[in-house]
Amino acid sequence: MAADADREPLFRRFQDVVGHEAVSAALSRAVAAGRAHHACLFSGPDGIGKRQIARAYATLLNCSDRVSRDEIAEACGRCHSCVLMRAGQHPDYVEVSPDGRFIKIDQIRSVQALTRFKPYEAAARVVVIDHADMMRVEGANALLKTLEEPSGNTHFVLLTSRPHLLLQTIRSRCQPIRFAPVAAGAIEKLLTQSGVASADASVISRIAQGSVARALTLTDADIFDLRELVLGALTGAGRAPLTEIMSMAVELGADRATIEASLDVASLLIRDALLQKASSTAADRLANVDLADRLAAWAASSSYDALFRVRDAVEKGRRRLASNVSPRVVAESMLLSAHRAMDESTTAAA
Ligand SMILES: [Zn+2]
Repeated sequence: MAADADREPLFRRFQDVVGHEAVSAALSRAVAAGRAHHACLFSGPDGIGKRQIARAYATLLNCSDRVSRDEIAEACGRCHSCVLMRAGQHPDYVEVSPDGRFIKIDQIRSVQALTRFKPYEAAARVVVIDHADMMRVEGANALLKTLEEPSGNTHFVLLTSRPHLLLQTIRSRCQPIRFAPVAAGAIEKLLTQSGVASADASVISRIAQGSVARALTLTDADIFDLRELVLGALTGAGRAPLTEIMSMAVELGADRATIEASLDVASLLIRDALLQKASSTAADRLANVDLADRLAAWAASSSYDALFRVRDAVEKGRRRLASNVSPRVVAESMLLSAHRAMDESTTAAA
C-alpha cells in the first residue's frame, strides 16, 4: 500500500482524478473562497481516489498562481509550491500511513511537533492521515488534542473506509466528505484511453466495483484467466474429486494477491448468479456481463441455499485472510465448503 502511494505523484489537479466531480468542485470552491476547513474527513471505500483528491486539495491550497478551469480553481503546476509537489519534496505536505498494522503514537507525535511551527515554505501545511481508523486510542487522543487547538495554517485531511471506527470526538471536529464509488462508465473510459481493449475494459470496469486502483490492478493481472479458474472451481466443485479441488486450491492460493483477487472475483460471480436466479432480466446489472449465460445455467442448477453457502464460504475466506491465515489454507477451505454446498445441492435436485 505504502509502495503504491510512493509511486504516485504528489502533484495532482482535480481534473487528473477519475470521478468525484462534486467533491472536487466543493473543495475547490472552499479553497478559492478562503474557507477551507481546518480538518476534513474523507470517507468511502478503499481504492476509489480519496488520497488523490487529498493531494489535489493540498496542491491547490498552496499554489500561488491558481487557474480557473470550468469554474473550478486548479493548481497552476508551475509556481514554486507546485514544483516542490511535482518533485515530491514539499516540506509542508505530510502524509501519514500505518506503519505495520497501526498508525503509531510516535507518528502522531511528530505531526504534533510539526504543527507547533509555521509552515516552512508555503501559506499552509497539509497533513493527510491515510487509514485514519488504524490509529489506536492513544494516538487518536493525541490527534484530537491537536484538532481541538487548530492552528490557522495547518489543514488536516483524514482518510478512511471505516469512519465508524474513529472516535466520535474526532469525527465531530472534521468536515465530513463522503466519496461514492466511481461510475463504471468513467473507469471504462479511463481503461480504453490507456489502451485496454474495449470488450475487456467493459468487464473490468464492472468487476472493479467503483475502484480505479482495483481496475488498474486487474488490467495488469490475467484477470480473465483467473476468473475462468474461479468460475470453474465454484461451479464444478460439486462434481470434482477432492484431489482436483486441492490442486485448484494450490492455484487460487498461490500468494496473497492471487487469493485476494480470487475472493473478489468469487464474490461477484456469486452475486451475479443470485441476481440471475432472482430475475432473468437482471443481465444488464451483472458485473460479469459477458458470462450471463453460464451464470444463469449455474443459478438454475443450484438451490438458493447452496449459493448462499458458497457466498458465506467466500466471506469467511476474506475474514480468515484478514486474520493472517495462509492463502493456501483459505483457498482450500473455501473450495471444500463450496464442494459440500454444491454437492448437497446436486443430490437434493436429483
Ligand atoms: Zn502553482
